[in-house]
Amino acid sequence: MHVPWRLVASWHCDACGDCCKEYRVRLRAYEYLKLRNTGFIEEKAGRFYIKKIGKLCPFQRRNLCSLGSLKPVVCKLYPFSILKKGEDRALFEFEGEEFFIYVDNFCKNVKLKEDLKPSAEIVKEIEEAIELILGRRVELDLLTCRVFDHQRRIRACKAGSMTERRHLR
Ligand code: SF4
Ligand code: SF4
Repeated sequence: MHVPWRLVASWHCDACGDCCKEYRVRLRAYEYLKLRNTGFIEEKAGRFYIKKIGKLCPFQRRNLCSLGSLKPVVCKLYPFSILKKGEDRALFEFEGEEFFIYVDNFCKNVKLKEDLKPSAEIVKEIEEAIELILGRRVELDLLTCRVFDHQRRIRACKAGSMTERRHLR
């Protein structure tokens, strides 16, 4: 069920991989162009999707996504959805523009609350999601899984890379 963001207290990703198994991924036109030669794309009613193999996404490896920078935007945004219309509780204003944000509580790490007081953690994650769809950022800090962050942290420590460390939470 998709719930308005104001009803969400917190969320994090621990790379369980369940959302990749649950959903079929619809691609944007430019994503289709980049992935069409993989052999794992299908068209239905003029829309392009990643073709599932059984119940699995062919790009999933040990629960993680193997696409790297080619990972579709809808996957990067998950469990957030950004719409142009919605209810008041989903309204999110960003730099004078109105967006309607819903969060899919199929993900077990979406924790709900009763009141409508904005969660600072969720607000930051939504801002990052909006920046992503506006094309203002490619790299993600908050919408990545914690397992992936942990791996980056280990690599950064081994490499002694101060550049990479600056991007870590
Ligand atoms: S977003 Fe949620 S369901 Fe998807 S991999 Fe992360 S923890 Fe699992
Ligand atoms: S493309 Fe990557 S993130 Fe999206 S469903 Fe497949 S494995 Fe998951």
